[in-house]
Amino acid sequence: MTTTGPRVRIAPSPTGEPHVGTAYIALFNYLFAKKHGGTFILRIEDTDATRSTLEFEQKVLDALKWTGLSWSEGPDVGGPYGPYRQSDRKAMYQPYGQELLDKGHAFRCFCTPERLEQMREAQRAAGKPPKYDGLCLNLKAEEVTSRMAAGEATVIRMKIPTDGNCEFHDGVYGDVSIPWDSVDMQVLIKADGMPTYHMANVIDDHLMKITHVARGEEWLASVPKHILLYRYFGWEQPVFMHLSLMRNADKSKLSKRKNPTSISYYSALGYLPEALMNFLGLFFVQIPEGEEMLTMDELTEKFDPDNLSKAGAIFDIQKLDWLNGRWIREKLSPEDFIARTLEWASENSRLTEGLKLSQSRISKLGELPGLAGFLLSSDVGLTPASFAGLKTTPAETLEILQTVQADLEKMIEWNVESIDAELRAISDKLGKKLRVVTPPLFVAVSGSSRSLPLFDSMALLGRSVVRQRLKIAATVVASMVGSGT
Ligand code: GLU
Repeated sequence: MTTTGPRVRIAPSPTGEPHVGTAYIALFNYLFAKKHGGTFILRIEDTDATRSTLEFEQKVLDALKWTGLSWSEGPDVGGPYGPYRQSDRKAMYQPYGQELLDKGHAFRCFCTPERLEQMREAQRAAGKPPKYDGLCLNLKAEEVTSRMAAGEATVIRMKIPTDGNCEFHDGVYGDVSIPWDSVDMQVLIKADGMPTYHMANVIDDHLMKITHVARGEEWLASVPKHILLYRYFGWEQPVFMHLSLMRNADKSKLSKRKNPTSISYYSALGYLPEALMNFLGLFFVQIPEGEEMLTMDELTEKFDPDNLSKAGAIFDIQKLDWLNGRWIREKLSPEDFIARTLEWASENSRLTEGLKLSQSRISKLGELPGLAGFLLSSDVGLTPASFAGLKTTPAETLEILQTVQADLEKMIEWNVESIDAELRAISDKLGKKLRVVTPPLFVAVSGSSRSLPLFDSMALLGRSVVRQRLKIAATVVASMVGSGT
């Protein structure tokens, strides 16, 4: 079905756990399309081949589906402007790089990573922002041809005006002016032929007929590069709207060090997707106090993209808890409540897998809640007493918890085998035996030293829940180190 309304998109990069910030931007675009009779599409931006994985892509799709959002075009549903995954579009970008070279809007650069690093180092030392210095900007055509013929690696960079400012209008920020002098000669096509984010993003937004680009404010500074590309190609640019970032209560950028940021954390703890979307949607509406509880239809009706705040969207977990409680109590019938609870308990097969792990460890079924309940609990109630029976000292326990917490972030895959391998590597690194490293983790993750097998439990709980438990455990143990207990 073709519509004449606006076309908007969410364009996640599958490089990590799906973030609530992605749900926030997706919701804005979804409401925008719904309000204006437009089309909401999903495009996977995986030009960063070293960090993007199909596993994360699947997680992004699953997490966004869990929120209740749906898209009319995307890698999973197809559509008239596919493919919707940038790595599958690689060949489409090549002619555009050539077009810019032919028109004189771009140039080939042969600078090696080592030379660029030295250049940046010198700029840093001189207190200047790092920026390409233009060494290859005016290479003669013959030199370019011969160096390429000799097999030298080359990238394509865009040319940037030297004087004046890039002036544009942003739907949230109003009139913006950014000096061209501060804009880098961005690489457009990398040495391996893959486009960079900027190049692929602009080409795809054009080919996919995107009319409005609504995304996080961290992209505002990239708009001059994007506008220049639209001009170089002779394409009409979309309307830009840069939404204020979500922030922690202390106004810092929402980060997993301070608050859980993974969508999967909120689903695992039993937040209802309707409540999470309601909470995020409140950043896009103007409503009097007392009228906060809104369904998706009500959010669409009240959606007000012309009056957005630049102040930052504070991720106030207490408010989310309050809304979630109200959704559970006021919006679900008893039948719905039971059905939703069972569905939640079964998420990622944790109920059945938890039971399988428990079978050999109990003498009565009534022991199950005590043994396996931590797989479902939002809080395992850690106190200094929880760690008192360990053989490691509080300082050692803390070192173990902190090392594991940091290293688990670097894992690409999250499953029993990868957790097993990582914890063995961490034990070696710490110069401790695995059986010394695991007891503090048992307590941190389950609240008890007698529980289910650790690696399986961590895999079932998921990275975002484990991260949060390790964080709480480290805080509790740090207080023991401080007080000498
Ligand atoms: N891939 C970018 C991101 O993940 C999308 C930015 C945009 O919407 O242009 O943030």
